[in-house]
Amino acid sequence: MKIKKGDIVLIVRGKDRGKSGKVIKALPKENKIVVEGLNLVKKHVKPKRQGEKGKIIELERPIYISNVKLICPNCSKPTKVGYRIEGEEKFRFCKKCQSKI
Ligand SMILES: [Zn+2]
Repeated sequence: MKIKKGDIVLIVRGKDRGKSGKVIKALPKENKIVVEGLNLVKKHVKPKRQGEKGKIIELERPIYISNVKLICPNCSKPTKVGYRIEGEEKFRFCKKCQSKI
């Protein structure tokens, strides 16, 4: 997957379009990521004990990586990620400024 945990991404589709945040979880099998504080859904939590009130919490819902763009840590622009192989090493690079990510 081209996006990893710790990356900063920009959301390009959906209700949070234009917002950016840090990837806190990568789900390669589903091609999704979880971005801190974004794509929130409200969830009702039932009281666990009698007398306790239920509450509403907000949870980050995973986003398809096709709906985000990586923000290059080098040029700070939303970019496409490329791959390059040098010797035995495979690494990602920014297609805008060509630097390693
Ligand atoms: Zn760049």
